[in-house]
Amino acid sequence: MALVVQKYGGTSVGTTDRIMAVAHRLIEAKERGDRVVAVVSAMGDFTDELLSKAHAISAEPPEREMDMLLATGEQVTIALLAMAIHAQGHEAISFTGAQAGIVSDSSHTKARIQEIHADRVNDALEQDRIVIIAGFQALTPEGEITTLGRGGSDTTAVAVAAGLGADVCEIYTDVDGVFTADPRIEPRARKIDTISYEEMLEMAATGARVLQLRSVEFARNHNVVIHVRSSFGQGPGTIVREADETMEQAIISGVTHDTSEAKVTVRDVPDRPGVAAEVFGRLAADNVNVDMIIQNVSEQGMTDISFTTPKEDLVRAKRAVAAVTEALGARSFSVDESVAKVSLVGAGMKTHPGVAALMFRSLADAGVNLDMISTSSIRISCVIGAEQVETAVRTLHEAFGLGEAFVIAETSPSAPGCEKR
Ligand code: ASP
Ligand code: MG
Repeated sequence: MALVVQKYGGTSVGTTDRIMAVAHRLIEAKERGDRVVAVVSAMGDFTDELLSKAHAISAEPPEREMDMLLATGEQVTIALLAMAIHAQGHEAISFTGAQAGIVSDSSHTKARIQEIHADRVNDALEQDRIVIIAGFQALTPEGEITTLGRGGSDTTAVAVAAGLGADVCEIYTDVDGVFTADPRIEPRARKIDTISYEEMLEMAATGARVLQLRSVEFARNHNVVIHVRSSFGQGPGTIVREADETMEQAIISGVTHDTSEAKVTVRDVPDRPGVAAEVFGRLAADNVNVDMIIQNVSEQGMTDISFTTPKEDLVRAKRAVAAVTEALGARSFSVDESVAKVSLVGAGMKTHPGVAALMFRSLADAGVNLDMISTSSIRISCVIGAEQVETAVRTLHEAFGLGEAFVIAETSPSAPGCEKR
């Protein structure tokens, strides 16, 4: 008898009909003889609606109250799903994050799960019930409700799977799996069958929206194999797991893009030790996330520093940068919200030279200007103008032949190192 964790995202439980269909799937799994735990998101756009209500009332709502509000979304789904299972003649019980024993730290709206006390869930499974857990929410040791950041139900599912020692962690969503690019931009994007934690981390961090970044980190740290599948069909989906020799040897796994960040530039700051520490220390103190950073070559003892930050942190970022501009006697600062980041991810770039050159050449030929560049050992990201993001994604997908599987060419190590299969 296997223990199965199945997570259903917002679209998969978007209507009462969809909730009945999910109930049916859970019952099917139970009837195959498995013990079944479901983790669910809020229905459809419910979380977005709650957010806009909060922002209609206040530009900066207190984060504790934001969590009180946002956690209600998932509670609607768990109750309706339990009712749907009962209506189909089976036993189920719903639990909030707190009731399921999910404990987090106290950083409201982006809390991290610390431990899971699974006794209640285990008891309910013993009683042969289907257990339904609200995703995205937890309780601090002090008894405060927290949420885990957008997309956090994925992390709940992986954490529950790790905590219960589940055999499978299936993430059901509205797409067939993880793709080589966003299929809405590049119709020739191909579903990836298997991908390593390492590559999935980079894809999730740079805009692939299928899995929350934190869920992949959690899965890697606890060695939970994630199976991403569509709740609208029976396709095989994508497996995310530790890399090994049996895995497809793609040089490049995918192209991702992200339009959720803005670029901030501080002009003419003095070029002396401690200045960057001052700028980024101030941003950190105000809880502003910073992604790419570039410092220009200095001229006459002055330099410019640019960085990107999530647009949702921009109010705080502007405040911090205004203060630091003043304190350092810098000339001015500016904010550009119409930027995008396009990234190429692939474990093969560690050993195959020429990937960056091909990336920059293809983008140049397509008339895309590069504003900032950053790399990791398996990723290259460029900040470009937001209006060129679709061109950039399609250009790179084409240039690296991602529509078809690209494999390491053992026979021609000298060339760019890639060959179509
Ligand atoms: N409902 C939350 C959100 O929309 C959590 C989730 O769906 O994973 O971000
Ligand atoms: Mg999601």
